[in-house]
Amino acid sequence: MAPNSELEELFRRVGRFLQDQRDLYGEVLPSVGDRREPELPAADEVPSLSRASDSMKKSPPTKDQENLFGEPESALAVHRSALQTPEAFPNEPWTASSSLTELDDLINTCTKCSLGTSRTNFVFGVGNPRAGLVLIGEAPGADEDAQGEPFVGRAGQLLNKILEAIGFRREDVYICNILKCRPPNNREPLPEEVALCEPYLWKQLDLIKPRVILCLGRIAAKVLLKSNESLGAMREHVYEYRGSKVIVTYHPAALLRNPNWKRPAWEDVKRARALYDELAAARPS
Ligand code: URA
Repeated sequence: MAPNSELEELFRRVGRFLQDQRDLYGEVLPSVGDRREPELPAADEVPSLSRASDSMKKSPPTKDQENLFGEPESALAVHRSALQTPEAFPNEPWTASSSLTELDDLINTCTKCSLGTSRTNFVFGVGNPRAGLVLIGEAPGADEDAQGEPFVGRAGQLLNKILEAIGFRREDVYICNILKCRPPNNREPLPEEVALCEPYLWKQLDLIKPRVILCLGRIAAKVLLKSNESLGAMREHVYEYRGSKVIVTYHPAALLRNPNWKRPAWEDVKRARALYDELAAARPS
C-alpha cells in the first residue's frame, strides 16, 4: 500500500471507530468528518409511535430542524408532521399498491433525490412478503448496489448467521433498508434523502404488517422511531411502530469491526425471537 493510501486507511478506521462509539454512547464525541445527522421530529409528535416500555423524551427542535422541516408542501414538511403514512402522498400512484411486487415496480425508477442517478441498482428489499420479522438496515453498500439485494456483502453474511442462530432462514424474514439507493462512499444518509425515501418503507411495512421489526444500527432506529437517543439507550427498550414491536440492535458491519459487541447483539436477537414467538402464540397468522 502506498504511504498516502495507508494514511487514508488509518483515518478511515479511526473515523469508523469514533463513529461506532458515538452511535453506541451518544453525542459524547465530536462529529466525524462531514457526516450530517438526519435530524428528526421528536417521537411524541408522531401519534403512531410510542415506546411500549417507557415514554420517549422530547428534544426541543434545533434551528436546523426548523429549517429542514419547515418547507411547506414538501416531503420534508410531511416528515415533520404527524401524518407519517403513505397516505400523505395522495397523488403518487405507488401509495395505492396492494403488493410488494407492485410497489417495487412503481418505485424502482425513482429519481426524487440524486442517489437515483448515481445508483447501479435500486435495492427494494428481499424475503417473505408475509414475514413476521422485518429487518431494517441503513442503506445499500457497494455489493448491494451491484446486486440489487440488501445485505449480500460481508455484513449480510454475518446477518444470515445471526438469523440462523435464532432459527430463521433468510427467506423466512423480510430484509430492507431506510434508503433504497447507495449513498456515495457509503456515507450516512442525508436528511433530505431520508425524507424522500422513508415513505416507501412505511408502505412496505404497511403491506407486510410484521409482528416484530429489528432495527440494525442507530440510523435505522433513529429514522424509524424518530428518536435521537444513542444506540445503547435504544437497545434497552421495546418500541411500538404502527402495530409492530420494535427492537434495536447493532448493525452487523459494526459487529465485524467490534467483535466484543457480538455477545450483547446475541442477547438482543434472542429477545426479538422470544417476542416473535410470544406474539405468534397469541396471534397465530
Ligand atoms: N448495510 C446496510 O445498512 N444495508 C445493506 O443492505 C448492506 C449494508
